[in-house]
Amino acid sequence: MRHALRLMITREDTGAALRKNDSVSVLAVLGRGLLPADSPFIRADDLGLTRGDGIFETVHVRHGKPWMLDEHLARMARSATRMELDLPDLRGLAELACEQWPVDREGALKLVCTRGVDGTNEVTCYATITPVSDKAIELRSTGMAVTTLSYGYPAGARTEAPWLLGGVKSLSYAINMASQRWAQANGFDDALWISSDGYALEGPTSTLVWRKGDRLLTVPAARTGILAGTTARHLLDRAGEVGLTAGEEMVTPAELVEADGAWLISGIRGIVPIRTLDGVELRTDSATNLRGILGF
Ligand code: PLP
Repeated sequence: MRHALRLMITREDTGAALRKNDSVSVLAVLGRGLLPADSPFIRADDLGLTRGDGIFETVHVRHGKPWMLDEHLARMARSATRMELDLPDLRGLAELACEQWPVDREGALKLVCTRGVDGTNEVTCYATITPVSDKAIELRSTGMAVTTLSYGYPAGARTEAPWLLGGVKSLSYAINMASQRWAQANGFDDALWISSDGYALEGPTSTLVWRKGDRLLTVPAARTGILAGTTARHLLDRAGEVGLTAGEEMVTPAELVEADGAWLISGIRGIVPIRTLDGVELRTDSATNLRGILGF
């Protein structure tokens, strides 16, 4: 945790990035305000730690402001309802954290709400900001080698079983992280989950988007229980700006290989072309300025 939250700036860094203590990472805790980024403030018996019982959002900070904060707060409220969590208004906390962030640096604002200490009925809420890594920025240009990984359920399983928390951005991301570790240990940059009945779902931390002729497509969240991506929604709502029509469809890996371009998308990574899928080269669509629509 401490390493993730603290970034010391080297002497070569100049200008607005230099803030107090040369630290550009931020921690703001609901009810307590700003704390030193490496403060050990969470109790050992917080259910967010012991059960992964809580929700979060990750918001891109650009020009010192949280991008699409309304959309992220709305999705967090939906996650809270599904988890029966009493989510306080976190807008002020998000804005307080962003005020500390240099305007010339891309940041990842994480808003967290856990069920709190067992038995207290008081949620724990905090916000952190960490820099977007150079690697994440580089992948937007180079694209990624992606491997398909089994998700283990049929595509419709989670819509019929609300307790599986389809569509909820819960803190239980151990499987997501294990999927990415597995991909990386096997020489890939990232993973794409495939349902047991053969459909592409989403990446462990990203939404799948592809182009087929003049159609820009993504996987239907309502039918599959994937997380409804705020960045993909923003992009598809503006598809008309680049002469495309937006739609939602189920897709197989074989159909993706035939597509005119495929991307993994999220608020922090931006829009990253899938260069290869299981080692097979995909078409790259350099003509359609989707990055421009998203401002990455
Ligand atoms: N799907 C999953 C599982 C995610 O964790 C994320 C983001 O972290 C996304 C999709 C993309 O969502 P957004 O565009 O809102 O960042």
